[in-house]
Amino acid sequence: MNLLGSGRESLAAIPAVHRFLDEPAVRRYEFALGRENVKRAIAGELDDARSRVPLPEYEALLAGVIDRLERERTQALLETINATGVMLHTNLGRAPLAVPALEAVRRTGGGYSNLEFDLQAGTRGSRYARVTALLTAITGAPDALVVNNCAAAVLLILDTLAKGREAIVARNQLIEIGGGFRLPDVLERSGARLVEVGATNKVYLRDYERALTPNTALLLRSHPSNYRISGFTHDVPPEELAALGKRVGVPVVEDLGSGALVDLAAYGLPHERTVQDAVRDGIDAVAFSGDKLLGGPQAGIVVGTAALIARLRDNPLLRALRVDKSTIAALGATLRLYLSAEGLEAIPLYRMLGASQRELRSRAQRYVDELPALLGACVVESSARVGGGCLPETEIASIAVSLRPPGGADAFAARLRRGEPALVGRIENGALLLDLRTVAPEQDAAVVTALQAAIR
Ligand SMILES: *Cc1c(COP(=O)(O)O)cnc(C)c1O
Repeated sequence: MNLLGSGRESLAAIPAVHRFLDEPAVRRYEFALGRENVKRAIAGELDDARSRVPLPEYEALLAGVIDRLERERTQALLETINATGVMLHTNLGRAPLAVPALEAVRRTGGGYSNLEFDLQAGTRGSRYARVTALLTAITGAPDALVVNNCAAAVLLILDTLAKGREAIVARNQLIEIGGGFRLPDVLERSGARLVEVGATNKVYLRDYERALTPNTALLLRSHPSNYRISGFTHDVPPEELAALGKRVGVPVVEDLGSGALVDLAAYGLPHERTVQDAVRDGIDAVAFSGDKLLGGPQAGIVVGTAALIARLRDNPLLRALRVDKSTIAALGATLRLYLSAEGLEAIPLYRMLGASQRELRSRAQRYVDELPALLGACVVESSARVGGGCLPETEIASIAVSLRPPGGADAFAARLRRGEPALVGRIENGALLLDLRTVAPEQDAAVVTALQAAIR
């Protein structure tokens, strides 16, 4: 009885939805979320408030509404400035696309294209053919195929070649990468039987030889992307594994993951095994990602022998893993950059890798000059990373702006994350560091504006 009574009282005291809708602080969400969504958020907040005793004041309700709208706004995919220093940050969307890739998406995505239409013959064509010639020209492999991502590429290969049969993998390569991709589990799901050989630290060619049976479908090599085994170790050189496969007539497949198409040594980094290396070693099929060291859109690329790629193309599973026109447009445009001398400069990842410390320092100094003294901004040495599971142990010299805002780095970082555009840095020893290597020079003005706005 009491409860009913207080419920009726609250209902009478709850302000109307339109009163909140008229608040400028609420109205500014209409553009991002739509008026109906804003109304729904207000109604939801008021519904919740009805069960609270005592009934919240108007100001508290308004704060609750804005909190709700803000949570809803940040649920959407939003532009985010990456000042973490991690170049291929999977949580922040991995590789930023090159301008020609964006242009290609705009040109072909905003209208029609010859996606599956052969313009020469006037008949049905293949979407996969749009990037095949580029991939074979760059990698030297006879044929290529593109699917949704590298995980899908590995799944397709295993499903095609090893279903109900045996796949031999060395124990030092039974990888788990982020996001739940575990090689042993993917093998199991594809219906292949995993045959482990060697020890965690030492694997020899004879281990593979001994495990061969008439039911062996493939020899699988995987790139230890995100970890290293060091010390008392032995590995089988890929070209020896490839030669063994040829000798016994069993395909050798490599899950390369990172998929560098250029030698990173040119950027002062350790040599990372390239796709061309794997092809040259005689690997029959190499799988790699489009949005790691290639610097393109999310995609899984397989390059390899014509016979093997033809079998992948015939697998009905391909239909479920196929890429859309935007991916093909962006990938094609990105790959074309590899075929011109100054093309790499256009790929944001390689521009980041190539930026000099001097250049970063002078940009950082400009930030410091423009920021109010209370942020305690100064230029510091930093170390960036490639990320995305690539070169996990390699630190890349970089420059950051260090901030010691009043109220603490954590609270300030939280405000920056909710800014427009959002800005994400990293916290080290109580200071907020903004690493310049992952911030494009075109974003400098936006960063300074975001910092100024966050102080207010
Ligand atoms: C990153 C990676 C994958 C997964 O690639 P996605 O494109 O994210 O699916 C698979 N294998 C290796 C070795 C990797 O490094």
